[in-house]
This record gives sequence, C-alpha cells and structure tokens, in this order.
Amino acid sequence: MYVSFDDTDSRKAMCTTYLVSEFLRRGKYDLIGLPSLVRLNPNIPYKTRGNGAVRIRVGNGSGEKVFCGRIAGKPIYSYERSSGEEDPEKILEEMYRLVDKNYQRDENTNPGIVVSNFLFPEIMYENAVTCQVNLDETIKQLDKLGSKYRGIKNGRGLIGSSAAMSWRGRRITYEIIGYREGNKEIPEETKMECAMMADGYEGTFNSVDIRNRYPAIFPNPRTPVVYGIRGINMEKLVEASESVAAKLPFPIDSEIIFETNQGTDDHIEQYHGELYNLHTYMISGTVLSKPVPTQGSHYFSSINAGGKVVKIAAFEPTKEFRSIFRQLLPGDFITVYGSFLKGTINIEKMEIRNLVAEYMRLPPLCSICGERMANRGKFSYQCTQCGNRSSIPEYTEKKRSVMPGKYNVPVMARRHLSMPFGTQPVIKKNKNMDLVA
Ligand code: ATP
Repeated sequence: MYVSFDDTDSRKAMCTTYLVSEFLRRGKYDLIGLPSLVRLNPNIPYKTRGNGAVRIRVGNGSGEKVFCGRIAGKPIYSYERSSGEEDPEKILEEMYRLVDKNYQRDENTNPGIVVSNFLFPEIMYENAVTCQVNLDETIKQLDKLGSKYRGIKNGRGLIGSSAAMSWRGRRITYEIIGYREGNKEIPEETKMECAMMADGYEGTFNSVDIRNRYPAIFPNPRTPVVYGIRGINMEKLVEASESVAAKLPFPIDSEIIFETNQGTDDHIEQYHGELYNLHTYMISGTVLSKPVPTQGSHYFSSINAGGKVVKIAAFEPTKEFRSIFRQLLPGDFITVYGSFLKGTINIEKMEIRNLVAEYMRLPPLCSICGERMANRGKFSYQCTQCGNRSSIPEYTEKKRSVMPGKYNVPVMARRHLSMPFGTQPVIKKNKNMDLVA
C-alpha cells in the first residue's frame, strides 16, 4: 500500500520527511522499496522551503531486503515486495493521526494524505513539478481514481501528495537524512568540516559551498533534520552519514535513505516560443545586450530566442556566477535554464555555446615610418615621428575573459531539482512503474 503526505511543516518547525521515521518507528509495517522524497514546482508561492512531498510503500516485507536506515539505533530495511494485503482505511487513519499530532499549527500549513494500492497517472506528477495545479481539480481526480484521502484545514497538501503518488522515479538520486534528538546546536566549524567530508564521498553532490562558507548538508536548525547528504550511490551515502554523525556533538536519533527527484531537472521544460509564469525553461538564444547591474547587484540582459526577446537575469544570490554572466557580449550564443518569474528568466545554470570575437581599437601604425601613431581625438591619429596623419584605426582581436562551457550557480543558490552540470542521476527501471493506474 502506498501512502503519500505533504504540507505538515511551517517555516519555524518540522519537516514532512520526518513523519516517515515516526510512522515506521512503531514497527507495525515494513518498508517496500525506498521512501520517496518528491520535489515539486520550486516556484509555487505556498511552499515552505523546498516544496517536497513524501511517499512510502508499506506492507509485510518479503523478498530481497536492503539496508535503508536506522530508527533509534535499530536498522530498517527496504523489502522487494509485500506479501500481505493492507487495509487502506486503517493506514489512512494511522497516518492521519500521526500527521494531526505533528503538523505545525501555522496559517500556511494545510496537510494532505493519500493512500492507494496503485500509482496515479504520471501526468499528475508532471503537472505538479512544472505548473501550478488547482486543488479542486486534484480532489476531482482523487475521487475519479477512487482513492482514499484526507485533507486537514484547506487540504492543499493533497496536491503534493497526489503528485508524489504519481511519481515513477525514472531518474533518481538519493538523499540520506539524519534526524535529531533534542535541540543542541552544532558549531559552525563542525558543520563546515562535516560538509567537506561528505563532499569527499564518491557520487555526492551539493554538500558544501566552500567559497561562500555554506555547509549545505545542514538545513534550518529548527527542523528535526540534522543533515541531508545527496548522492547517486547509496552505499557511499551510508558511509558519509556515519562519518558525519560521528563528528556531531550529539547522537543521531534516526537516519533514512530516500530516493528522490532532486538533481534530475524534471522541472525544466524545453522552450517552444511561449513562456508561462512560474514555469522553468531551458532556452537558447543570442545575447542582445551586455548584462547590466541594477541596485542590489542583480545582472540583467536579454536574448533573442527564435525571434522573440527574452529577459534573463543572474540575481545576487547566484554570487560568483554573476562574474561569468556579466562578461557576455551581444552576439554570444547561450543556453540558459531558469524559472520564468515576473517576466524574467532567473538563471539556474548556463551553457555558453559560442562567443563572438571582441575587438579592440588601436591607433594605426604610421605608413611612412612604421611607428604606432598617437590618438588626437575621435578617429584622428598622428605619427609623433613624422607628423603623418590618419583617420583609419587598427582593430585587433581581444582575448575574451570567459570561455565556452557549462556554468553552475554556486551550491548555496541551487534548486533542489536542478541537475548540476557534471552530475548524472541514476536511470532506473523502477519496479513500481508497472503498477500504473
Ligand atoms: P517541506 O518540504 O519542508 O515539507 P515545502 O516547502 O514542501 O515544505 P509545503 O509546506 O509542503 O512546502 O507547501 C507546499 C504546498 O504547495 C503544499 O500544500 C503542496 O500541496 C502545494 N503544491 C505543491 N506543488 C504544487 C503545484 N505545482 N501547484 C499548486 N500547489 C502545489
């Protein structure tokens, strides 16, 4: 039986993923497959942080089992399949009680829980990861599918839960999340040391931003999450988690491995001539203007993309990425990836495909004595040796200070869903994919 849930936290506390360990803690069910952490459209205004929904499959485990974490020191395993028939009503009631006990009483927190013995049509995920989805439509769809669900307050979390229930995990990465016991602080130096250590494990990504001194594996201290290490190799993540946990000034209560759509670029659509607000695009074009800074050190430019002018920007949080962006010149050919918000593409990463030649104007060489002439005003040159005059300058090609290539924004500015250049998610033939509604 699949259970998905979303929208349980506020900016001040909680994390929806935490409910996985709480649900499994009682030992009533086995995990079938790995828990899924499914990130959705990063531009949705209702999101608390990373717009993540969660799905687990529970049952009576049988077949091959794989280590997928620990709860209160006890290992938990993910089983290949379930040998029993679970009661969806009972599971819904149990998850409802858990959510009701833990969700944050905040005006923007509206939990939703969905239970189903099949995965929903994939289009529901595709819509929720790229567009803005309507709650009434989602509820209609849930009724049509005959699924069991429950919303709390306005029940907006049903959008995320339904999307998680339709994710197939065709391309995945993993995240191992460690949860805390108590509220003890971790010194900043320890955080940096741990993040750098995690970064050293094969296949991990987005662990640390050394230049900006940002230990990305440590999120907001007010949530039950102590750290989250991302990667494409499960075994290495377990090792990394052990090393990080050993350095902390308190023991970890639990750690769980999720399969996720983080780092897959699933939110990105190919540009086909139209741009819609809150969507994210991959869009190629010729640079039309030299990027200019505005107040707040955001850099703006525009490109000609198939005959249409598209405004693009590298905002201040993209830090050193702006020093690459601002070197673009009219005529350069680039591909940018970014969210379309308020009429502008907010760049998440960029490929410089072709650079135009940049020329420098110099006074010409004297045609009589061969000396470099002196500048005497606009297009007026004179030889200081023989007095010869000319109005025709010399142009030489300047070395461009940027190279064609792929440029990521720094780790601290990356979207969860964005695939950093150089990272390849795992392509998975997920067995769950066969269970299509
Ligand atoms: P956390 O991941 O820490 O739980 P969050 O950043 O995921 O927090 P939520 O509290 O889950 O944020 O809030 C996001 C809300 O937006 C949820 O109610 C979810 O159902 C809804 N939502 C998600 N994707 C979409 C979408 N594409 N269109 C409309 N609503 C969406």
